[in-house]
Parts: sequence; C-alpha cells; structure tokens
Amino acid sequence: MSDTTSTYRSLNGIECGKALRAQIARRAQEVLKERGTVPHLVAVLVGEDAASQTYVGSKVKACEEVGFRSTLLRRPADTTEAELLEVVAELNADAAVDGFIVQLPLPKHIDEERVTLAINPTKDVDGFHPQNLGRMMLGLPGYLPATPNGIVELLKFYDIPTEGRHCVVVGRSNIVGTPMSILMSRNTYPGNCTVTITHSRTKDLPSITRQADILIVAIGKAGFITADMVKQGAVVVDVGIHRVEDASRKSGYRLSGDVNFDEVAPKCAWITPVPGGVGPMTVTSLLLNTLKAAQT
Ligand code: NDP
Repeated sequence: MSDTTSTYRSLNGIECGKALRAQIARRAQEVLKERGTVPHLVAVLVGEDAASQTYVGSKVKACEEVGFRSTLLRRPADTTEAELLEVVAELNADAAVDGFIVQLPLPKHIDEERVTLAINPTKDVDGFHPQNLGRMMLGLPGYLPATPNGIVELLKFYDIPTEGRHCVVVGRSNIVGTPMSILMSRNTYPGNCTVTITHSRTKDLPSITRQADILIVAIGKAGFITADMVKQGAVVVDVGIHRVEDASRKSGYRLSGDVNFDEVAPKCAWITPVPGGVGPMTVTSLLLNTLKAAQT
C-alpha cells in the first residue's frame, strides 16, 4: 500500500512578507536620502464595503511599517463616475504621489474598466492597466499585478522548483488567474512551467488538477478543492479568501480559502495557509511596486 500522507511545509506569506518588507524599508530610506521624500502610496476607497475597508486598512498599515507615506482618500458610495475620474486625474498629475490604487470592487454605477484605463500606467501600482498587463505579456519592465507577483515572490523565497513542472491554474480572472498563468510560463525563474489554465467551462476539472505539480487556485468558492483533486506531493497555492461561519470563534467566523486545507494539506509538499499565505504577499507586492514607482 502506498503512503498517502506527507509532512507538508507552509508557504508562509507572513514570514516571506516580513523578510521582503525589511528590505523594502531599507530601500525606502535610500529613496529618502536620494530625493528627500519617502515613497508615497495613495489608496482611494469608494463606499463602505467591509472587506474593502479591511484590505485598504492593511495596505495603509503596511506602508507605515516600511516607512512609506500613505494617504487614504475616502469617497462616499454615491460618488459619481465623473467625480472619481476627477480624483484619478488629480492623482495622475500630483508629483508628490508615486503610485495609487483605486480599491475594487467599485459601486455598480461606476465603470471599473473606465477608471482603470484612466490611471496613468506609470502610477498603476496595482498593475491592472492594460499597458502594464501588455508589458508583462511581452516580458518588458512594468508593474506586475499584485497577487500573481506576490505568489511568484513566495515561490522564489521558498526555492520551489518550477522549471519543467506542470502548473495548473484554476480561475482565469484578469487580476489573478490569467496573469498568473503567464508568469508561470515565462522563460525565467519562477517560471518555465507547462501551464494549463482552467475555468468554469473546463470539463472534468479533477482529472486536470490531479496532474498538477503546482496547483494555483483562484475561483472564489470556499473549500472547493478537495483531496481527491490533488496529486500526492503537489505544491498548492490558495488565493481564495472567505469568511466561513464558525460558532466556536468569538467573531462567529473563521477565514478559509478555495482549498479544503485540512484534507488537502497532508497530500502536499508545500501549501499556503489561509490566512497568512497569499494575502500578505499581495500587500507586499504592492509595496514593491510603490518602491519601484518611487525609484523611476
Ligand atoms: P473571479 O470571480 O474574478 O474569477 C473566478 C474564476 O474562477 C473565473 O475565471 C471562473 O471561471 C472560475 N471558476 C468559478 N467556478 C469554477 C469552477 N466550478 N470550476 C473552475 N473554475 C471556476 O475571482 P478572482 O480571481 O478575483 O478571485 C478569486 C478568489 O481569490 C476570491 O475568493 C477572492 O476573494 C480571492 N482573492 C484573494 C486575494 C488575496 O490577496 N488573497 C486577491 C485577489 C482575490 P469563468 O471565467 O468561466 O467564470
């Protein structure tokens, strides 16, 4: 009988993020010496969405920790698209702002694509502008989208071999799945994978995920990936983040990912925890992009 359990190791985004943030903090001081000001990130938050407030709060806090300046611009939920575009235009023109993000999702009456397109690509530290996505496609310098780049940094930090491996990406969103598939297929490290990208129309998904040496999951469905969908010894990266009801917790909920961690982890060589895996790396990646913006 073959052994179906292994001792998995954690792709720990807190540990990796801490190491990278220490480097970023040193570089921020160099920027200060060179030009007299630290890198400056502005976050625009429209409305009162609870999850968005938490995400933006963690981004602002991370800036403080590495010695960046950060500004949070709050606008009410009934802000019009024209008013928001005006804010974007002001930030584009403000030489004291190195980079900025407009936290998504935006209220339904605002066209997210129009807002993303209005951001000056040189200040687009989320890496969502088509120009930055196109540069990524072509392997040209630019800002990489925060979550996929955070995953790349995590794989690098833990020296995960990628060359020649089969990487299966579940989910094809513009901000996670699609750019992730491109980064993993690049002719560099981490990269040089044979990549399969899957989505809601994929037939017999388990037969494909079971082929993955590296499985990256970003679908937005709590506990979707179960043990029978994962190969023994795989590296599993879980992008999903969900509040799951848990009466045993004081808060009444716990955070969980797209992967059923308890049953999948024993089959893995490496796996990201949720929380503490991809989430902190997304924020670290934003800091890396802001530093880059301040240095160019
Ligand atoms: P989207 O909803 O934009 O995309 C989900 C993708 O999953 C789509 O491509 C969809 O396919 C695919 N999908 C849905 N159901 C299935 C299924 N049954 N089988 C196969 N594929 C399926 O999500 P995002 O990429 O924006 O986010 C995914 C998750 O990651 C969410 O939980 C989000 O909260 C989280 N997230 C976490 C971040 C972090 O920093 N930790 C950052 C960003 C996101 P189709 O295209 O066919 O509809």
